[in-house]
This record gives sequence, C-alpha cells and structure tokens, in this order.
Amino acid sequence: MRLEDNIYFAGENTVASVCNQFGTPLYLYDSDKIVEQIKTFKQAFNWPKLKVKFAMKSLSNISILKLMKAHGVELDAVSLYEAETGFFAGYKPSQIMYTPSGVKFDELEEGVLKGYQINVDNLSTLEKFGEKYGNTVPCCLRINPHIKAGGNHKIQTGHKDSKFGISLLQIDQILEITKKYDIVINGLHMHTGSEIYEIDPYIEGAKVLFKLAQNFAHLDFIDFGSGFKVAYKDGDKVTDLKKLGDNLVAEFSAFCDSYGKELEMWFEPGKFLVSESGVLLVKANVVKQTPYSTFVGVDSGLNHLIRPMMYDSYHEIVNVSNPTGKVQNYNVVGYICETDTFAWDRPLNEVREGDILAIKNAGAYGFSMSSNYNSRPRPAEALIVNGVPQLIRNRETIQDILKNQIDIFQEEEIKI
Ligand SMILES: *Cc1c(COP(=O)(O)O)cnc(C)c1O
Repeated sequence: MRLEDNIYFAGENTVASVCNQFGTPLYLYDSDKIVEQIKTFKQAFNWPKLKVKFAMKSLSNISILKLMKAHGVELDAVSLYEAETGFFAGYKPSQIMYTPSGVKFDELEEGVLKGYQINVDNLSTLEKFGEKYGNTVPCCLRINPHIKAGGNHKIQTGHKDSKFGISLLQIDQILEITKKYDIVINGLHMHTGSEIYEIDPYIEGAKVLFKLAQNFAHLDFIDFGSGFKVAYKDGDKVTDLKKLGDNLVAEFSAFCDSYGKELEMWFEPGKFLVSESGVLLVKANVVKQTPYSTFVGVDSGLNHLIRPMMYDSYHEIVNVSNPTGKVQNYNVVGYICETDTFAWDRPLNEVREGDILAIKNAGAYGFSMSSNYNSRPRPAEALIVNGVPQLIRNRETIQDILKNQIDIFQEEEIKI
C-alpha cells in the first residue's frame, strides 16, 4: 500500500477500488514485498548451500506457496495437512521439512511414506523411529539449546520449560538410541520461537548445535529455525539480519572446516517473509461515541485476526478513506461478541461510518489463524501480482459454515 496525492494505492489500483471489487473484510498481499523479503533474506546469509524453508503455518494459501517456490524457497510444515498442501502446490516431498510437535507416531510413519524430511523432537519418538527404520531412513533432530539470553527476558531462546525439542542435556540418551538402532541423523535443528533482535544469543544457540554436531557423522544440514523480527511500528527494534548473517556464516564456515564437510545452512522464516506483505482491509460499520471514548466497530474481529487479542501485538492501522482527516483517538473493535479490540486509544484520521481501515502486518498468522467463531465466514484473500490484485481465496458463505454439520433430526418432530 502506498499513498500518492492522498490516495492509497495497492499495485496499480486504488485500495478503495480493490475493496469494491472483492468486498471487505479482505486480506490483501503484495507479491513484490514477499519477493523483496526473500531477496533480503538470501543476501543476508551468504552461504553457497543456503536453503530457505518457508514456515507455511504463517500463510498457507497455495498461490503464496507457488510464489515461494518460483523464488527458490522450500517449505517447513508442522502438520501432514500442511505438507500435503505444499505437495498440492507443486513441491517435491523431499523439499518439505516435516516438523510436528507431540504427534502420534503414525503421523511420522505417514510422513516417511510420503518422502518428507522428518524432524524428531522427542526421545521416545526417536526410539520408535530407530526400531522401525534402523538406518534406512535418515532423520533430523530438533534440539532445545537452552540458551540464556543476556539482558532482556523477551529474547530468551528455548527456555528449559519449553515443550519443543530434545534437551541438549539429554545428549547421552540421544547417542545411546542412535547407536542402538544405527539411526542416520542427517540434520540438527533449533527453532526457539522467540523474537530475535539480539545476535549473541542466536550465535550461542548455533554454537551449541556445532558442538553437538561433532557426535554425528552423517550430517547434511543444520537448520537454524527462525524467529526473525520485522517492524510493527516506527522505531521497533528488528533483527539486523545482515549482521547476524555475517556472524553466523563465519561461525558456520569454521564449523564446517572442523567437521570436514560443507553442510547446508537451513532457515525456516515465516513472519519475516510475509508479515509486511499483508493488510487486512475492513470497513467501519459504526462509530460509537460514549461519554468516555470513541469506538470504531469494524466488519471483522478476533475471528479474522487474533494476534492483537492473543499476543497483545501492535498492528498499525490507517484510515484509507480519509487520509487527511483530523487526527483523533479511537478504540478500534471487532463485531464478535467478545472483547475483541484491535487497538486502544489509537490516533487515526477521522473515521466516518463506511470508511475503509487497513490493519497492517497482517500477512503472517492472520488468515492462517482465523476461525468461524460466531458462525461468521472467513474473509477473501487477494494477491497483487504485477500490479494487479487477483483473488486467491473466495470469501466463505453460509454453505461453508454448514457443510460438515449433520442434521440428525431432519424433518421429524423431536421427542426427547
Ligand atoms: C512457527 C515456526 C517457524 C516460523 O517462525 P516465524 O517467527 O514466523 O519466523 C519456523 N519453524 C518452526 C518449526 C515453527 O514452528
């Protein structure tokens, strides 16, 4: 979205005309921004064997996945359904990393049958994997490196109570099991889940993996996960990706020398690749003045974008319809029968009923976390390609809400 002569444009069209064409609420993504982020990411990590695996849980529309594929980005899937969606979008199974958490062993067996790269995150799973496959199917190990970040608690990566990964402290058990079944460990993985903007803890985590790696003779790759921050508002601290990249590449290079093989360097960014590419476009249904404050009630809610309510995340909002209006403070709220506040006390250009508001940074964990709560349909999604917005998902209808429900009473009179 860009402002030209006080009119918001998305590609070649005005945002207002896009909303007219597809209706609101609408998730609108910009393919140029996604491609720019892919390039920035690849440039930051200057390693010949770099693999970027898009964490598709952040945005799993097949048109987005195809765009990723066209730009040499592979996939990280956290469920078989995600992996299957990736396959449907044209990925080879071998390009899909399958990183489930706490699933039944059947799901891993299914993943092996399909040919995905398997990532194991529990000792009992590793034992079953060894029993079943011995040295015939390689697997990756998800390690919890227990890194204590200096200073800010927000950057603690992989704390000791995390449910994810196999603890670094259990290395003896890992080695016992891999030896017993002759399991081929072809990769080591960490994804700490936190938002990273300091480099040292990340490098420390990497060093933990390098040290562990010396125990495994058949590694092809090390997967450094993700957690890279993007700006949600002016002045937000973000990951200095280039600096992190230079540091990590230097460490990785030294490690590969000592390991005796040039390994692949993997990452699984979600938010970094797609967050800023997306806006959720909504319409102001009502402007409600109370003796205390002014509310704007929009045609969306926590059913469409839950991050502000679930994580207290800040999403910038602009009034697309009135960019020169007098700035006042508003509480921007949804239409769900819950307290679903997008923003408290937010300065916006004067909002009138019918105005279009754009909620920014909605590309990652927006649509993919949406629901049918309050029996409301999910929004449509559109992608701007070469300046032109194209529908990539239909708005849901009442048929979608009803489609799996079974009416056991049909026309009979109910006697209970
Ligand atoms: C969610 C997830 C990611 C992506 O995290 P972002 O913060 O969106 O970049 C990467 N890897 C795994 C295993 C994940 O679960």
